[in-house]
Amino acid sequence: MKTIFRNAFFAFAAVMITALAVAQGPGINYAKVQFIPQQLAPNVYILTGSPGADAGHPEAAGGRIGILAGPERVLMVDATYAPLSDRLAAAIKQINPGPIRFLIDTHYHPDHTGGNPNFAKMGALIFAREEVRQALVTPPPPAVLAAVGDAASWKDPERLPIVTYSAGAPVKIHFDGETVDLIPLPSGHTNGDTMIRFETANVIMIGDFYRNYGYPFVDATRGASFKGTLEAIDQLLGIADANTKLVPGHGSMPTLADVKAYRDMILDIRAKVQAMVANGSSLQQVIVAKLTAPYDAKVPGGTDPLPAGLGNSADRFVSALYAEAKATR
Ligand SMILES: [Zn+2]
Repeated sequence: MKTIFRNAFFAFAAVMITALAVAQGPGINYAKVQFIPQQLAPNVYILTGSPGADAGHPEAAGGRIGILAGPERVLMVDATYAPLSDRLAAAIKQINPGPIRFLIDTHYHPDHTGGNPNFAKMGALIFAREEVRQALVTPPPPAVLAAVGDAASWKDPERLPIVTYSAGAPVKIHFDGETVDLIPLPSGHTNGDTMIRFETANVIMIGDFYRNYGYPFVDATRGASFKGTLEAIDQLLGIADANTKLVPGHGSMPTLADVKAYRDMILDIRAKVQAMVANGSSLQQVIVAKLTAPYDAKVPGGTDPLPAGLGNSADRFVSALYAEAKATR
């Protein structure tokens, strides 16, 4: 990378760190959060945080949780914020009173791993990518740490995944008649993303590389890119069928057609950003061009202001595409 591009990239990375912190931490009214259960298959449920309590995720507080309820025990996917663990555990008990044996982290963000230490102390064995463990071992920069607040602990040793794996073949957990595939993904949202598939129930917990509330977000501080997002989408499209229930970490449940439209939208905007970069446009010129305008009406929250004056997710999206286009030229 030439120096000027590198400087632009680091300035962009600093903005992304702040954006990430604000997306996760402050402005959460934990007391207001309830968990809304939905049954997707005889043995599979999801729990979604209630709306209006989390400034970073106004449509549903925290990250969505998946539950595989065997006759006598429970496997869970993601653990949302730490202060919600007791309420979440109570909501899970309503579904199945058995012990929570396994917890799988889709990625390291605090709205998905904050509850890790609490569920580990309840007896859950945590599975995640080795990259998730590395991210949780290394405390984030002080500004992020302050912004995350009590959403997650960076000190409690029980927060760390016990069983880890890297890119490659899926890890399979055979659990009370169900086969659970932990599918490592390319770096689309973070560098440690996992998609979880319940084979018999035909349910896929996608994680956050697909999001339909606001425009997509790549965590550039952890090596994610839209190149990775597109590869992850293709992987999802390769294993899902018309009957698969697709469950993202946030937002509403999409159809396969929605996921394809999302891929096409990223490809379209990326091509337009790349063309502007090729013509020598600055980041400011790319933002002012409002390249997402044809999609804005179909993306809830896309042009709503993010917390702490960080612009909106449409501008964040094209800014990330700009940085990626610059870095790969
Ligand atoms: Zn995330």
